[in-house]
Amino acid sequence: MKFYSLNNQNIQATFKEAVIAGIAPDKGLYFPESIIPLPADFFENIEKLSNHEIAFQAIHQFVSEDIPDEALKDIIANTLDFDFPVVEIEENVATLELFHGPTMAFKDVGARFMANCLGYFSQGEKQDVTVLVATSGDTGGAVANGFLGVDGVKVVILYPSGKVSEIQEKQLTTLGLNIEAMEVDGVFDDCQRMVKTAFLDTEITDHKKLTSANSINVARWLPQLFYFLFAYKQAKPKGKEIVFSVPSGNFGNICAGMVAQKLGMPVKHFVASTNVNDVVPKFMESGVYEPMPSVATISNAMDVGDPSNFVRIRHLYQDDLETLQKSLSSYSFTDENTKAIMKEVYSKTGYVMDPHGAVGYLGLKEYQKSNPNTFGIFLETAHPVKFLDVVQDTLEISPKIPPQIMKVMDKEKKSYKISSYEELKQFLLDD
Ligand SMILES: *Cc1c(COP(=O)(O)O)cnc(C)c1O
Repeated sequence: MKFYSLNNQNIQATFKEAVIAGIAPDKGLYFPESIIPLPADFFENIEKLSNHEIAFQAIHQFVSEDIPDEALKDIIANTLDFDFPVVEIEENVATLELFHGPTMAFKDVGARFMANCLGYFSQGEKQDVTVLVATSGDTGGAVANGFLGVDGVKVVILYPSGKVSEIQEKQLTTLGLNIEAMEVDGVFDDCQRMVKTAFLDTEITDHKKLTSANSINVARWLPQLFYFLFAYKQAKPKGKEIVFSVPSGNFGNICAGMVAQKLGMPVKHFVASTNVNDVVPKFMESGVYEPMPSVATISNAMDVGDPSNFVRIRHLYQDDLETLQKSLSSYSFTDENTKAIMKEVYSKTGYVMDPHGAVGYLGLKEYQKSNPNTFGIFLETAHPVKFLDVVQDTLEISPKIPPQIMKVMDKEKKSYKISSYEELKQFLLDD
């Protein structure tokens, strides 16, 4: 299977090339040349398959030319060694908990899968690959954890000083080994700009193999389709039409779900739920795509003003807005809406939602107003303790810190403070 650039379909790469390059030479996102539906009996008998078997069959067509079956099975086993429970919190409303991995965010799946692929591809290579990644919080921790100790791969993470939670900062600054954290005097957009500049800087790229671990990388994006299938397997016995609501920022996660649908997974509808960064909800109404500077919110992992993966969704639907509207709705919610629903759900059901999951819940309920007899699943993309301040202030509770988080809290932070691109460049050249 080849992957083509969304800017020019004549520019093609193998899976391996696409993973190592991150982005096509013309700056387009890579996209699979075909998505062949899985056989009908895969979905008929999905209850009988283990999560590893489901993942293997679902991703096989995309990677099989570059990764032999046995190696792929190992990669999947290393990626998926935790649970993905669908927890029903009200009638017809359930949450898919994606926070049972090592850094308690859904990005663990994509980050681990990509790290394992890159580790596999760099076997026998002389030159190390440097993964350069900007994070507003969760990506950094998941990438650091996923790549920790992977031979032949170094990781440099840029994060905005003082703008990530204490837990998130610990997760990306305390690991050591092949992971280095750059603490940038600025906001997330500054970090992202520095990363983009580095990729275009031939003085660096002539000496170093650089790649990104953001969700534009196909090895981080595609494996996210696994847990939609795991959720389908759990929800299927309900015998109802299924709706997924995905709290969205860069729209990689929801786009992977839509790929699962193209693979034949029966889904009635997707809901892209956002905070006030509402470029996509506006587009879905007007057909006009207007990027804007991001606005800070309490669901900060979704503070994105120009979602990078949305072009993939448009491409999945041949850029036909009317057809897309039949499969996708998108709604935006304020911080006040989010806090109010966190309180309401907690007091009615006892369930503690993090602010991102809460936005997902709101989007689902909005859709179910006009589609009541559906089984709705919203994705809980992070454990509530990862957004401890908001959860404590809003719900007036102190959630118990799970052991995988406690482990890093006492470790010493190590970061390099930088305030300009030149400092990053010097660091990469000296390294
Ligand atoms: C990254 C992230 C999101 C947004 O996911 P996208 O794939 O960028 O849309 C939502 N919630 C949390 C907690 C995240 O870390």
